[in-house]
Amino acid sequence: MLRKARAYCGLIGVRREVKEYWKIVPGGEARLEEIRWDISIPEDICTFNTEAFWLVLPNHYKTINKAELESALHAIEHALLTVIPKWINCDPNDIKGAYTTECPKSGGNPIIFIFDKYPGGIGLARSCFQRIHDMLRDCIRLIETCKCKEETGCPSCIQTSRCERQNKNLNKKLALKILKEVTPNSL
Ligand SMILES: [Zn+2]
Ligand SMILES: [Zn+2]
Repeated sequence: MLRKARAYCGLIGVRREVKEYWKIVPGGEARLEEIRWDISIPEDICTFNTEAFWLVLPNHYKTINKAELESALHAIEHALLTVIPKWINCDPNDIKGAYTTECPKSGGNPIIFIFDKYPGGIGLARSCFQRIHDMLRDCIRLIETCKCKEETGCPSCIQTSRCERQNKNLNKKLALKILKEVTPNSL
C-alpha cells in the first residue's frame, strides 16, 4: 500500500501535438529562434491508446505553488523513467511519462503517468505497476545519493537527454519530499 497516494494500471489515451519548436544552426548548438505554435494542425496531432500506470498524489499538494509542484512532478517523472529500465529490463525509449497538477478525472488531484510508447501497449507499464514500491524507493535513492547541489539536479539524477522540455523546471528537493511522503518504509 502506498501512503497517502494511490497507484493504478490500465488503458489511457495519449494525444501528442507540437506546441513549440526551435530553429537551430545545422551541425551546431546555437538556437536561432524559439517558436511557439499556437495553431492546431490536425495532421500533426497523434493520438493512440496504450497501457499505463499512474500515481495519484494526495489533494493537499495542490496547496503548493503550481509552478513549484509542476517542477517536482516533472522531476519524479524523470526519476521513474531513469530507474524503470533497471527493474523491468526494457529500453528507455519504449516508455514515456506525463504529469498534471490537476487531473479532472481524479477529483483534481496531481497525477504522474508512465506509459508504453506503442499503441495498445507492450506490457511494460503493467510490469512497472507490480514493482511500484521498489521503483519509488529507487527514485529516492537516486536523488538522495546524488551529490549535485543544484535544485534542478544533474544528468546523474533527475535530468535526462530524452526530456522534451529541455530539462526545464525541475525541483529535486520537493520531488524527494513528495516521494518520501508517499513511499512506504522510506522515512
Ligand atoms: Zn544530481
Ligand atoms: Zn522532462
